[in-house]
Amino acid sequence: MRLYLVNPDNPIVSLNKVRSNRLNRYRVWKPLGLLVVAGLTPPEWEVTLLDENLDHYDYGLLPRPDLVGITAFTSQATRAYEIAPAFRAMGVPVVMGGIHATFCRDEALQYVDAVVTGEAESVWKQVLEDASNKALRRVYEGGISSMAEIPPARHDLLRGRYYFGSLQTTRGCPLNCSFCSVTAFNGGTYRHRSVADVIAELRLIREKVVLFVDDNFIGTRRDHLACAKELLQAMIDERLTRPWIWQATINFADDEELLGLAWRTGCQGVFIGFESPTVEGLMAVGKKFNFQNGRDLRASVRRIQRHGMSVVGSFITGIDTDTRGIGESIARAAREYGLDGANVLILTPLPGTKLYAQLEIEGRIRANDYPGDWRYYTLTHPVADYKNFTWTELVEEVNLFTDRYYSYPQILWRMLRFARNRPSLKTFLVVLVADLSYRSNQFLDRRIYANRSEPAERRSRPST
Ligand code: SF4
Repeated sequence: MRLYLVNPDNPIVSLNKVRSNRLNRYRVWKPLGLLVVAGLTPPEWEVTLLDENLDHYDYGLLPRPDLVGITAFTSQATRAYEIAPAFRAMGVPVVMGGIHATFCRDEALQYVDAVVTGEAESVWKQVLEDASNKALRRVYEGGISSMAEIPPARHDLLRGRYYFGSLQTTRGCPLNCSFCSVTAFNGGTYRHRSVADVIAELRLIREKVVLFVDDNFIGTRRDHLACAKELLQAMIDERLTRPWIWQATINFADDEELLGLAWRTGCQGVFIGFESPTVEGLMAVGKKFNFQNGRDLRASVRRIQRHGMSVVGSFITGIDTDTRGIGESIARAAREYGLDGANVLILTPLPGTKLYAQLEIEGRIRANDYPGDWRYYTLTHPVADYKNFTWTELVEEVNLFTDRYYSYPQILWRMLRFARNRPSLKTFLVVLVADLSYRSNQFLDRRIYANRSEPAERRSRPST
């Protein structure tokens, strides 16, 4: 039996489309979910991963499969719905899973034969069995899986194609920020894989640099932190130290033992969601966690950096409390916090989030010519009515931030500061490449902005 697992291209961010821009390599991650699904698949199925991030395929010329599995984040849904009919026209059944299919199940069912909602581990074998018997059901509800069910991902399937190896150690997040679908998809309970499973899988990864894709590697509570420390200590004991990066919340800065362990295992940098430079903005997106207990963000960032690691912050523009000048404010905040890099996104109502529900009720979702408009849900394009900005104004704010924060003199200044304070050549290079990559990609985005205009009925700023 032949199974194709397909990772659809997003024409706006694809590695293919910007292959001439080598720096884009550093911001594209492996489709780890498909590698896990491949790991769940019994050996009687021959699995091929078709990754449109990397190659173009003429599906009609490939050997005919018995089943096709497609995953998609929302921004890939447009392309997923082009691929599925091409296989179905050949009589090949198509099953779709992932975040978008979970939250837009009825839409997906118009294009595919079956949908897997939630985490796939508990239902994937049933899907394969039903496909073998030509008796696919329309919906398989995966829900929340036991972490013990997660198999090692099939890292061999994409060996050497991406810069980063990828690994997941936890799922779920209790914070439930309004713009984020992690809590809705993976649940509000923070769950860990066993240390033994993670260590075994780390041994399978051949890339020199590893990305831990966990939405929050350390969690928020003392017992979560204890699990993270146990894993890091095991990596040291097993001599599995190598350069890696991760995402975490700012409480990473509060535990000296954790900071020391992270550095000893090879952590080069951490990506932290600062979200907004204002308390009002943090309240609006449900991230008051960032200022709880009178946190001094500058001191927190400094504590992480003192252990040799870099800190890259993520911010959102277009929050209802933002006003003109937010791009400049974010650039200033990033400098004040002493960040080594910063990423500015545009508030995007992703299906499944509290934000989506709110903006839909308020009739504020403007990029709603689905499925074509899903390709703009990349977090870098305006898609809604923003309270204090037209689309043009919001894009101007993002551009202003880039011009201020990623000017060559600013990058040089940050690198000199970095070299002075934390002379690790490896981390220095990681930060330099991250800065140049972000700058380069912002200019690619500008070309796309230039070809896109706001729907006519909303070209002027709304009265507040
Ligand atoms: S943005 Fe981060 S902290 Fe907030 S819910 Fe998502 S994963 Fe959790």
